[in-house]
Amino acid sequence: MLTRRSNDCKLEIAWGYESERYSFPAGHPMNNSRTDSFVKALGKLAVERPRSVHLSKPVAATEEDLLLFHTKEYVEFVKEKSRIGEGFLDYGDTPAFPGVYEASLYTVGTTLFGMNQILEKKTDHFFNPIGGLHHAKRERAGGFCVFNDAAVAISRAINLIGMKTVAYVDIDAHHGDGVYYGFEKDERVIIGDIHEDGRFLYPGTGFSNETGKDKAKGTKLNIPLDPGSADEQFIKSFDRIEKFLENFEPEFIFFQCGADGLSGDPIAQLQYSSKAHAYAASKLHELSHRICDGRILAMGGGGYNPTNVESAWIAVATKLSER
Ligand SMILES: [Zn+2]
Ligand SMILES: [Zn+2]
Repeated sequence: MLTRRSNDCKLEIAWGYESERYSFPAGHPMNNSRTDSFVKALGKLAVERPRSVHLSKPVAATEEDLLLFHTKEYVEFVKEKSRIGEGFLDYGDTPAFPGVYEASLYTVGTTLFGMNQILEKKTDHFFNPIGGLHHAKRERAGGFCVFNDAAVAISRAINLIGMKTVAYVDIDAHHGDGVYYGFEKDERVIIGDIHEDGRFLYPGTGFSNETGKDKAKGTKLNIPLDPGSADEQFIKSFDRIEKFLENFEPEFIFFQCGADGLSGDPIAQLQYSSKAHAYAASKLHELSHRICDGRILAMGGGGYNPTNVESAWIAVATKLSER
């Protein structure tokens, strides 16, 4: 058993049966079976690090929370589809199922809860494995994402809490289009996003000339990588993101750590190992203590190979709980 070193950090991770409700029908890649081995390994990590890794329960958002980012029409549409329990929430990637609305409330509510836990100093850092649903737009679902927990939390941070600047870092294989376009013209949201080139992968966006618009120009850094890119390219790109973030003074770091960039993912073609996630989590962890009092919240995102989900997210949890 590892003992806690004096400078280890407290990481709270939310998991419970509610986490498994956000699961599309069997055969869909975003099915709760993808997290089975991660959850077992997480239990083991919590036993090994009883003083630094704490498990807590998912929390449901309110409708009012959703409206911080999403439109009323869209929220009503999801409720209705949730009652009917069939059809699609978008053009065909994101199916409705009975209770999809209630299940989605936990993806958002847990990210908001995590942000509060950090701000109230009840934990140093927080990880919501069922969050990071970065493709959802204000007025529609997309790419397996119903509500955009990251965008709701960012909206709360800048519009309700009054933070002047926050950072959003996204290493999922797919471009975080819902967050990017949600804040493309907002200079308060600094974005660094590494992903497989949109010419080869959904959602087909995130090119290097997309740097923000109007007065937000220069506040976003998109780094598309060729299919087949591995740890070496990732690490070089991540170092650029780290330097980029240091030009600003974010008060909070949101970290979407999708695991679908690892070699062997069934829907993306990058070739990272979990070293990519360990590197990113470790660097962002250090950076958070340097620039924003350690305020960093991780969100799971994609990842459709269970072994990869386990290794990538355990690497994140490990690096966020040790210094
Ligand atoms: Zn820390
Ligand atoms: Zn993805």
